[in-house]
Amino acid sequence: MKRYGKQQIAKGVILQDWGVTYDELEPFYDRFEKIAGVSGKAGKLNGEVIEGGNPYEGNRSSEYPLPALESMRLTDIFAEGAKKIGLKPFMVPAGQASRAYVNPLGVRMGPCTYCGYCLYYGCGNFSKSSPNACVIPALMQRSNFTVLTESAVLRANLAEDGKTATGVSYLDRNKQEWEQPADIVILSAFQMQNVRLLLLSKIGVPYNPVTKTGVVGRAYSFQTVSGAAIHFKDENLNQYIGAGALSSQVDDWNGDNFDHTGLGFIGGAGILVVARGARPIGNADALPPGSPRWGKEWKKAYTHAFQNTTFIFGQGTSFSHRRLLS
Ligand code: SF4
Repeated sequence: MKRYGKQQIAKGVILQDWGVTYDELEPFYDRFEKIAGVSGKAGKLNGEVIEGGNPYEGNRSSEYPLPALESMRLTDIFAEGAKKIGLKPFMVPAGQASRAYVNPLGVRMGPCTYCGYCLYYGCGNFSKSSPNACVIPALMQRSNFTVLTESAVLRANLAEDGKTATGVSYLDRNKQEWEQPADIVILSAFQMQNVRLLLLSKIGVPYNPVTKTGVVGRAYSFQTVSGAAIHFKDENLNQYIGAGALSSQVDDWNGDNFDHTGLGFIGGAGILVVARGARPIGNADALPPGSPRWGKEWKKAYTHAFQNTTFIFGQGTSFSHRRLLS
């Protein structure tokens, strides 16, 4: 608003400044990346722009704990093309260990084998930065740590002051209700379930879409992803190799990285390709329009498409809008 004036903001868009700055958060991101074994290349380190990283990123205090994942043919093609037209491509930092790694909690992660399985599923190689690979093995060593599976928290219980949590009530796998006392309760059940738990626990003021008052349940936003298929004539994309987050991206049109004067909108999108490893059956819908649908000719077209068809994506800013809520 400071840069373009009020008229640039579409009517009904819900905006609010963050209560914390990036610089305040940076040490926590840094610690998280080291625990998660993130693989990437810094683009801005201690105030200096670093070749090969994302020049638009916020200033970092240290490099990523592991080097970026290996680039594949698809990410090479994208990066070469982007550079030719003056853009600044970079390998997207990935929550996948590019090397064998021991994180600050003493947990070992295996080097990614580029099997591509993790786009939709877990990693059997302990390379993907999910809690079961990087955090839970360390917690399991503690005598006072217990994981209860097949249980569901119903609500956080509050002290008489209504401001402090005293624990949670939950159902176990036999549908028996229990109360677990706690000094600290963390709601980390993703956006929808967090809102549900806050409402059931009577924490905060529920959002009322008619009067537009209250906070809990207000301003939902998610990813805005759009994309297009790309059909090469004669490539070898070797899509049996890949990793769920193995991507090359440009941020030249993301966020406020470009001048929006007179454009009538704010925000933007990162544009990327993902060498994610094509699933043999899942990729069968990636044939060019007009391809045969059956028989020998379909098999020929499908074999060609496996090496030649891929996708380009835009992952855009998502603003909450009042019209969608009321
Ligand atoms: S590609 Fe994914 S599933 Fe395969 S080893 Fe790497 S992180 Fe694990």
